[in-house]
Amino acid sequence: MKPSQPTLFDGDRMDLSDAIEITANSLRAYAERYNYWAIAFSGGKDSSALLTVVAYLIASGRVPRPKKLIVLYADTRMELPPLHATAMILLEEVRALGVETRIVLPELDDRFFVYMLGRGVPPPSNTFRWCTAQIKIEPMLAALKSLRDEAGEKFLMLTGVRLGESAVRDARIALSCSKNGAECGQGWFQEATPESVADTLAPILHWRVCLVWDWLMEADLTDKFGFHFSTKLVAHCYGGDEAVEINARTGCVGCNLASRDVALERVLQYPQWKHLQPLMELRPLYAEMKLPKNRLRKDGTEARRDGTLVSKPCRMSPLTLEARMEFLDRLLSIQKRASVDLINSVEEVRIRELIAAQTWPRGWKGSEQLASIPFANVNPDGSVQPNLEGIL
Ligand code: SF4
Repeated sequence: MKPSQPTLFDGDRMDLSDAIEITANSLRAYAERYNYWAIAFSGGKDSSALLTVVAYLIASGRVPRPKKLIVLYADTRMELPPLHATAMILLEEVRALGVETRIVLPELDDRFFVYMLGRGVPPPSNTFRWCTAQIKIEPMLAALKSLRDEAGEKFLMLTGVRLGESAVRDARIALSCSKNGAECGQGWFQEATPESVADTLAPILHWRVCLVWDWLMEADLTDKFGFHFSTKLVAHCYGGDEAVEINARTGCVGCNLASRDVALERVLQYPQWKHLQPLMELRPLYAEMKLPKNRLRKDGTEARRDGTLVSKPCRMSPLTLEARMEFLDRLLSIQKRASVDLINSVEEVRIRELIAAQTWPRGWKGSEQLASIPFANVNPDGSVQPNLEGIL
């Protein structure tokens, strides 16, 4: 780690071995109360640290082995490719230590590109964020509920939630947004797992972010802890030492809600991931998708059940069928040039099927006018403003 200016209080700071001991104690305190333990693994830094430290503590005998430890990996299909590849390696490494692993995928029609191109829903935005629940939270909740049914009893869910070093950060942990240091959706999920499904324990709650980086770097050294985990790769995806200073986070590749795709920019600096450069085209492509020329618009008569007009009677929403075909081709080209799997063959077939069947989001017929055609804007009170163009 980068050297920092020592302070009077440095002697009282917890080091990695103290932190691991407290983690072991908290796991031991719960070990006998639950037969089944589960980890909802996202592949991010805290989640990777949690997964590997728990596997290490059990394998080394410092914590009794539960009847079953099951790791559920939330594969959104939108992860940064190096993080996804690393998650796969970590899953293999913990499997070798007797941990059961399962991959949780969103339903085919709910996946990011299938939903967007097949159904025509525009890319997510800060005012219309449909993605987090659909590709991250709901599939994991469904997997946990089925795990609960399988086990026949409530299990213990281990989460990678950590307390920050300030009250503001602690409050932010409860949120699920890409605006803070948590992975998108992770905070919400970890706070909101239904009590009937699992009780939750956060065994790395007390770890500061620098301890997470220390663990990710040191767990990769076999001689340090006696077990090897490929955790250094995770730290690299976040920028290694530098990440300590930038409160690094990752979300979906090309996330349209972040101001920049910092994680992608960072991995592109490594020669082995230079081939991912075409993925930088994703965000501009989403911006283009949102242009009026690619979308339909309501005609100003949309009303609620009580007959009053909705708040935006001339709102713009779905992507036209032609735009969807065009953007599908462009995404397939990005995928080919970047040598990654954004849209697999099953998803591509489904997107084409949905487009051929003229599938529209709920409340749309496809007969609405093109949003780029000049229109008379209708206000919620019914008053009309003539000829406005291309404004939501
Ligand atoms: S990271 Fe971005 S695109 Fe992915 S689920 Fe979160 S908000 Fe949506």
